[in-house]
Amino acid sequence: MRYDYLIVGSGLFGATFAFKAKQMGKRCLVIEKRPNLGGNVYCDTIEGIHVHKYGAHIFHTSNKEVWDFVNSIVEFNRYTNAPIANYKGELYNLPFNMNTFSQMWGVRTPEEAQKKIEEQKAEALLKLNGRAPSNLEEQALSLVGKDIFEKLIKEYTEKQWGRKCEDLPSFIIKRLPVRFVYDNNYFNDKYQGIPVGGYNKLIEGLLKDVDCKTSCDFFTEYKDCWRDIADRLVYTGPLDEYFGYQLGRLNWRTVFFKTRIEDTPNFQGNAVVNYTSHEQPYTRVIEHKHFEMFGQEVYNCPKTVISEEYSTEYKQGMEPYYPVNDESNNRLAESYRELAKQEADVVFGGRLAEYKYYDMAPVIEKVLGLF
Ligand code: FAD
Ligand code: UDP
Repeated sequence: MRYDYLIVGSGLFGATFAFKAKQMGKRCLVIEKRPNLGGNVYCDTIEGIHVHKYGAHIFHTSNKEVWDFVNSIVEFNRYTNAPIANYKGELYNLPFNMNTFSQMWGVRTPEEAQKKIEEQKAEALLKLNGRAPSNLEEQALSLVGKDIFEKLIKEYTEKQWGRKCEDLPSFIIKRLPVRFVYDNNYFNDKYQGIPVGGYNKLIEGLLKDVDCKTSCDFFTEYKDCWRDIADRLVYTGPLDEYFGYQLGRLNWRTVFFKTRIEDTPNFQGNAVVNYTSHEQPYTRVIEHKHFEMFGQEVYNCPKTVISEEYSTEYKQGMEPYYPVNDESNNRLAESYRELAKQEADVVFGGRLAEYKYYDMAPVIEKVLGLF
């Protein structure tokens, strides 16, 4: 059979594209090199628990069109991300809010907290003497001050990025909200949740009645012959790989997980616990059941599955996860984008092919905008 589109990759970009194209009467074939569909949102089921195999995924957006779209495929639950930080056994709420300040300094009112933060920032601001922060350390110290920087930011960031805070760009930390209300919700977005029944339900809904082939690598099976079976290509794999790395290799940052079953119904009492000191080599521990089980449901499931998350430099053969958007990589990606423009019958989309850090909702928004 001849297809309108051959779609390389079954992550949210590829799967949403297939759904929309099918709605418009187009025929699609989705090929996926992994044994499972869904890209990074795919979940294994272990002990009845959906385990986020490629990293914890929390859906959040303020875009009503995207929220209505995903909810038309599957219902979402009321999960709200509220991570805990563990610094050498001391526990703090995240993101930085009145709970954190109260735990850190015993303050009770926003006024007391603001006063304390002003004191904490004073030294850094004096040092800056009016100039803008030029690295992550200066940015953090002038935003929240010394105690929070030392206990909740410095070592976590060093573990996560494998570099000193003074050698990292300041924009990384700007993403963390600072609030003078007792609100532990990590995201500021209007809508948030996890698909009821897990992310695989979302992918199954998107790819219903679409032809799919798993364990099928575009480069070994279709690169030279795809025009024989399809009119257009939608490519969601790594941008540099499509062009045979002819201009050089793009860098990525990657994480890996050590996952195990614990013989207890409730291991850490929260889905996400960040370990913010160097005492532990991992950055955070995910207890997957808390994404989808609440109240008594936690105890109705006698075991639990946890994943320690480790951050590491990317080497060939590892999963490419986060683009390293520094100057030289951005420049290289731009050169590849110029080459991509010459491929008139190919759509390059998603996190790998655009070499862009994308949350799930913006990926879906992008695809919806193409139709
Ligand atoms: P992917 O999901 O990576 O899909 C691309 C697919 O293409 C993969 O399945 C890959 O195997 C396949 N492929 C590649 N090359 C080939 C080939 N040659 N042949 C066949 N198939 C191929 N977003 C949020 O909104 N909230 C979160 O909490 C969140 N947490 C995250 C945590 C981690 C650790 C990571 C890495 C990302 C997180 N994200 C989160 C981002 C989210 O994963 C992405 O937005 C989403 O995966 C993008 O979908 P995609 O289709 O572009 O990419
Ligand atoms: N961060 C930190 N302590 C924490 C959590 C985050 O210092 O407990 C910093 C860290 O530098 C990280 C950045 O804030 O890279 C953004 O964190 P977030 O969890 O929002 O990003 P993600 O890891 O999901 O990309």
